[in-house]
Amino acid sequence: MLTVKSKPTIIPTYNLTGDLLSYLKCPLQYRYYNKAALPPSKPVQLWFGEFIHGVMEEAYVRWKEDPRYKKFPWDWKNEIREIEEMINDRLNARGLHAYKKVFCEYKEGFEHPGKCGKLGHPHKFLVSERTDLAINSWGQHLFPLIEEVEIDLKGTREMINYQKNSDRSKYYGISGVADVISSIKIRDSPHGNLIIHYLHENPEIQRIIDATDQEEFEILIDYKGSRRPSSTLDLEGKTTEWHHHEWQILTYAGLRAQNKNAKPVIAGIIFYLNELFPSNRDLLDFQVEVKNGSTDVLPTGRDLMNINKWKHNRKKSQRSDNILSGELRSKRSIRIIPITQEKILESFSHFDNVVKDIEKSVQSEIRGNIIPSCWDARFIEKTCTACDAKTFCPNKECMRYSPQVP
Ligand SMILES: [Zn+2]
Repeated sequence: MLTVKSKPTIIPTYNLTGDLLSYLKCPLQYRYYNKAALPPSKPVQLWFGEFIHGVMEEAYVRWKEDPRYKKFPWDWKNEIREIEEMINDRLNARGLHAYKKVFCEYKEGFEHPGKCGKLGHPHKFLVSERTDLAINSWGQHLFPLIEEVEIDLKGTREMINYQKNSDRSKYYGISGVADVISSIKIRDSPHGNLIIHYLHENPEIQRIIDATDQEEFEILIDYKGSRRPSSTLDLEGKTTEWHHHEWQILTYAGLRAQNKNAKPVIAGIIFYLNELFPSNRDLLDFQVEVKNGSTDVLPTGRDLMNINKWKHNRKKSQRSDNILSGELRSKRSIRIIPITQEKILESFSHFDNVVKDIEKSVQSEIRGNIIPSCWDARFIEKTCTACDAKTFCPNKECMRYSPQVP
């Protein structure tokens, strides 16, 4: 006897960072990299992002479990380097490697110059300057507030304008992982905590706190291995990474609120960890943003003077902590996002639209159209320079990358 199998209900699930934010950067690049399951061609971005997450998590575990790690500052060579080596080994095993000259991958006593080009390993290169500052500046304020790490968040949404004949499913799934959830008692919080200080300083958060009789709140935290993006719309008037990061945090908050054990989430915090020790490229971007006023945390006094007169010099580069003060770098590395119900609903509806757009492109491809005609190509110089599809990309701005005829 034949059994009739019912058609399985497939709900496409979208990951917030891996799918939705990637798609928003550039739909066509997202299609080439993610949907075809091809690895990105420049895994260094991936290496650093994963590395800094791993380091912060391991640092927290040591702080929590080992009394020797309760005291700050931690010494880079004696306390932090071991964590770096452990996380790097783990990433190497997965085929992810750092660029040379941003991270020394050799252990003490290795007697060849190797990729570093000089003896005396371990070297404290750019990435290690950042881990040192991330642990010693934010770790000591953040670790005491941590309630849970790596929190899986999931939800189901209705597909907007569902069409029975063309849409794959009436619903879609949305998923993400929040790095940290902090729990704070607002009237009884640790004194001298810089994170609590920044929260209280924010008038919108203060209003949210004043409007409720709750005592305990949650804060969602996301580490980003990138610089603070420019806070304006792009040249075509479209939203950028800046806005998308905010939607991401608001959506996390919305998904978290569906958990019965959750306390009210009043804020999200993004740590843009590159800001703690900017690279030359980061300084160059910052210089442009300062000139055209397209970033929200601006330098004053000596910082302003230094960044304006700074000249990019490949051969003789100055340490960025000599150019920008610790105070400015710290302020630029933290972004506080107030959470309200209204803004959560808005962010969900932004992603509903993004999913609908992705589904439309998928349908168009299923109907047999060629890939570049199904997915938009968006020009963002930094993303495009590192893109595998740039030489044949249909975006007219990417013509600059087409092979030159001599
Ligand atoms: Zn080295």
